[in-house]
Amino acid sequence: MTMVAVREVTRTYGKGATATAALRGVSFSVGEGHLVALRGRSGSGKTTLLNIVGGLDTPDSGSVRVAGKDVTGMPERERMRLRRESVAFIFQSFGLIPVLSAAENVGIPLRITGAAPRLREERVQLMLDIVGLREHARQRPGELSGGQQQRVAIARALAGRPQLLLADEPTGQLDSETAKQIMRLLRAVVLSEGVTALVATHDPSLIDIADSVLELEDGKIKPSLSTEREVALPSATPLPPGRRAGHPRRPAPPAPLAQPASPVTPAADPARHAGHISTTLHDRGIVGVEYDP
Ligand code: ADP
Ligand code: MG
Repeated sequence: MTMVAVREVTRTYGKGATATAALRGVSFSVGEGHLVALRGRSGSGKTTLLNIVGGLDTPDSGSVRVAGKDVTGMPERERMRLRRESVAFIFQSFGLIPVLSAAENVGIPLRITGAAPRLREERVQLMLDIVGLREHARQRPGELSGGQQQRVAIARALAGRPQLLLADEPTGQLDSETAKQIMRLLRAVVLSEGVTALVATHDPSLIDIADSVLELEDGKIKPSLSTEREVALPSATPLPPGRRAGHPRRPAPPAPLAQPASPVTPAADPARHAGHISTTLHDRGIVGVEYDP
């Protein structure tokens, strides 16, 4: 299934002589369960695009579909529900609530959706385990390192089982070793939770392990990649699990819009996940890893 379909999206800030065209006709699609890196220099339109995909902003023209729903045509109330239930954001600045503990921060989406307290606690515990922060559940963000704070933000983002994860330069404030750990964690949770992720980043450690790379240049998807897309199309079929778990692959670009049928996507096959989740996490040295100096 196609999780995200963006067609001919434009967005201009301001009017007249000072107008800035942030997006100038962007089209791409992301298959369910894929991790896509969105690359491009500062000012190329990455944040604008993520905000539009997540329904935080609306384009001037063009359309965005998330999980088959037309985000651009939705009334605000429905868009809010989509943001609450299906889409999660991760920001460069972590965005945690300082007076709440790590566990309480992770529980926020579950409070919003009204999950029963016991289910909520179990889910929070599981998410903290997955990001390797079981021992830090009671600490507040200010008592955690930057990398740990971003782990809490990842746990929070996934707690409510979103379908789509949008991350805007999630390692922009972290040192390169910590950044690598966070990107590997993102890679692992995208697999284990079956979520689809679009991650704006300059970080080479994500570019290496993403399923595909989109490059924005001055508000447009760089054309060299659309040519490559066609060439790499066969890689849209699921890879053997072992390949995924152990070896970083060359990124395969997203399916072209011209393709009438949705490409086969990894998450579409639940059996592929069974039995590989823990090995994926362990292979990548993520569970229980502490990297604080
Ligand atoms: P990136 O995230 O890749 O750095 P942005 O999406 O933030 O790019 O910005 C794209 C372009 O739009 C830039 O030229 C930026 O200055 C401009 N821009 C972004 N947000 C605003 C805004 N709120 N008002 C005016 N211009 C903006
Ligand atoms: Mg940005």
